[in-house]
Amino acid sequence: MPQPTLLIRDARCIATMDDAHPEWRDASLLVRGHAIEAIGPADALPRQADEVIDARGMLVVPGLVNTHHHMFQSLTRALPGVQDAELFSWLRGLYPVWAGLTPEMVFVSTQLAMAELLLSGCTTSSDHLYIYPNGVRLDDSIAAARQIGMRFVATRGAMSVGASQGGLPPDSVVEREEAILRDTERVIQAFHDPAPGAMVQVAVAPCSPFSVSRELMRASAALARRHGVRLHTHLAENDHDIAYSREKFGCTPAEYAQDLGWLGEDVWHAHCVKLDAPGIALFAATRTGVAHCPCSNMRLASGIAPVRRMLDAGVPVGLGVDGSASNDGAHLVNEARQALLLARVGRSLEPFGCDHGPAEMTARDALALATRGGARVLGRTDIGRLAPGLCADLALFDLGTLAMAGGAVHDPVAALLLCASPQAAWTIVNGRVVVREGHLATVDAGPLVERHNRLARQLAEAARGA
Ligand code: ZN
Repeated sequence: MPQPTLLIRDARCIATMDDAHPEWRDASLLVRGHAIEAIGPADALPRQADEVIDARGMLVVPGLVNTHHHMFQSLTRALPGVQDAELFSWLRGLYPVWAGLTPEMVFVSTQLAMAELLLSGCTTSSDHLYIYPNGVRLDDSIAAARQIGMRFVATRGAMSVGASQGGLPPDSVVEREEAILRDTERVIQAFHDPAPGAMVQVAVAPCSPFSVSRELMRASAALARRHGVRLHTHLAENDHDIAYSREKFGCTPAEYAQDLGWLGEDVWHAHCVKLDAPGIALFAATRTGVAHCPCSNMRLASGIAPVRRMLDAGVPVGLGVDGSASNDGAHLVNEARQALLLARVGRSLEPFGCDHGPAEMTARDALALATRGGARVLGRTDIGRLAPGLCADLALFDLGTLAMAGGAVHDPVAALLLCASPQAAWTIVNGRVVVREGHLATVDAGPLVERHNRLARQLAEAARGA
């Protein structure tokens, strides 16, 4: 059976994010099956294929990569009571609500979050599901990803230290450590695909220093390495997080990670807002990855991560929208735009540190974080760039819109990051069209939103009744 072909024809610009040829003008891109076959000047490529997308007036970029999320939190966006809270009080307010999650809620909220990301041009996402009440399983979010057609790195999160043991979450939402490890092994064996082009991978992800024990962190690292899967957690998110580490463990979060075997090319940590200079050096030396989540860090007033210093030191950095309850709008182009803006503000706040100025982060730097940076953080060499042989994960943006007017004529790539963040006109994952002319092609958005809102109401009502 010959594989079907898809031609993206006559694009105004293709930004490959690949060093061999970063940007093409008036170019086409040919997909065969699940992979990119050719990119080049439109007149050098075929004019026909099984499906042809007329990309005149469009910008084509690699499908964006999201390295940190908690998709179930879509059910608790903008929840009154925690709208103006910092991390610890925000979590304390939300844990009792999340205790009412059901398998159906996880499936639907995951699909809702993925729909939102796909419409922003994101083709691969990680998700950190760390709460398992009422029979919830990681299987529920993997089923949602398969149905909607998103490339997925599902992480088996966990919480094991409840308030009675000095942890932050209430005892009612923590699990026993043997049960966590057993279920983690089960989902790796059932779902993790190590092959290039994998649509589903699994990583091991105890939630945070303040909700799991040292023993679970160590056992998780050993389990992940035995199975060749990656490790993920939260680290150094804000000043309270640092104070907790100092008080409970007598060291900084980076030292704690080192002590636990949680540094290395197979590890990525979310946030790292408060990573100090020795921590940055440790991360760089060990090629430990960081998921930078600028919107969440602003929403919770956590601070400004030292991203330029991390990048200059050689730390792998990708972007994460973080959970929908601390970033109520998951849009990956916007996340890149906010990363750019926040980096510039951060530099301006340093007393004598303004050596980069606004060039602290350029538009192309921000796009690199959202594409190849994220791919590296997830340990993927098959996505994040556009080149022959790589996965056919693409996002197309219309440059002829009101918001892009006067910008895209000068520099379409910079306009994507600097102008108001657009929705994708087309999103293609693994050679399959999942967003067609601005609309989801794999699930019906209207009924999904309706069902999600019904469940969101039900969850809040259950918490009020509890
Ligand atoms: Zn998070």
